[in-house]
Amino acid sequence: MQELTKDQKQEVVNWMQSKGINPVCPTCNSSNLGIAMVANLGAGANNGTVNTEINGENLVPVVQVACMECGKIRHFSAVVMGLVN
Ligand SMILES: [Zn+2]
Repeated sequence: MQELTKDQKQEVVNWMQSKGINPVCPTCNSSNLGIAMVANLGAGANNGTVNTEINGENLVPVVQVACMECGKIRHFSAVVMGLVN
């Protein structure tokens, strides 16, 4: 897990809001969220119809938004967010 800078975390929140995603927990409505960068392996779930390769690797960079109250975890593509190329 890679810790994001304060600016990057704000970028994540700004991106969520720009997409109409309320930056609170969808389960318990807490705004106490932990945001970090994680790496997800996409190759195992690839049935050939979805391109999971990014930068020539099957390693898909993912931003994890975790609720610190109830533990609900959401994942978003760091590429779609524009955090990584
Ligand atoms: Zn929650």
